Amino acid sequence: PGLWPLCHPAPKLLPYSLAHPAGLSLVLMHTHRYPIVIYLQNFYNLQTDHQPLLKNKGENPLVEKLKEMQAFFRLEVTGKPNLDTLEIMKKPRCGIPDVEQYVFTAGNPKWKRKNLTYRILNYTPKMKQADVDEAIRKALSVWSNVTPLTFQKVEDKEADIMISFAYRDHHDNSPFDGPNGQLAHAFQPGEGIGGDVHLDEEEAWSKNGRGYNLFIVIAHELGHSLGLSHSNDPGALMYPTYSYTDPNEFLLPQDDIDGIQAIYANS
Ligand SMILES: [Zn+2]
Ligand SMILES: [Zn+2]
Repeated sequence: PGLWPLCHPAPKLLPYSLAHPAGLSLVLMHTHRYPIVIYLQNFYNLQTDHQPLLKNKGENPLVEKLKEMQAFFRLEVTGKPNLDTLEIMKKPRCGIPDVEQYVFTAGNPKWKRKNLTYRILNYTPKMKQADVDEAIRKALSVWSNVTPLTFQKVEDKEADIMISFAYRDHHDNSPFDGPNGQLAHAFQPGEGIGGDVHLDEEEAWSKNGRGYNLFIVIAHELGHSLGLSHSNDPGALMYPTYSYTDPNEFLLPQDDIDGIQAIYANS
């Protein structure tokens, strides 16, 4: 497990916060760089722009969002940033929120066509091009194996799924954060940026167990490209945090099969 890029500057308020989460939030709502606040802003749609922050008595948005996060990760729902909660927040993960936030279309978006195209816009110097190609081909097959979908590679035209490595602010309002933290994100089915996959160029991408395995991360992101959101099943590919599986031994978990087949009936 790597460093937590959201951790600095080191918050001096932490011991107090652990003891008094309600008191903590009053202070921290104004400290937007505090890691817990950033995490809940990024992944649980915590709004901190409006004042006063405590409009309704007893309803502290930070505590409510923390409870929501704890429920998602099947932790004890206390509304307090205990060690289990902080442990999860430190894990490298997908940049897509765990609650619905960026919805292009109402309902569950899906591709209307079965024959989709993909294009690899650029490569990372950290891996051989052939290994990147292979990771992407294999990640696509994870999904084509259990659906009627097919993926055709194109070289020089707009594709449904455009895959690229991107650095920091790359003009989609979802800047990457440097090494660790957010590893990648993808857009749900749709025109234009819909379906596209962005990988944080600053991660230590690999074809094996070192750093972050490109195949595992792309397979997860393609789930979003096809219309899946995050699963709270810790064994699922669509679980938000990264965990390594040897690509040669990877089998798509049942939770993900059920999810994708609910969208694209396998007929
Ligand atoms: Zn994700
Ligand atoms: Zn992006």
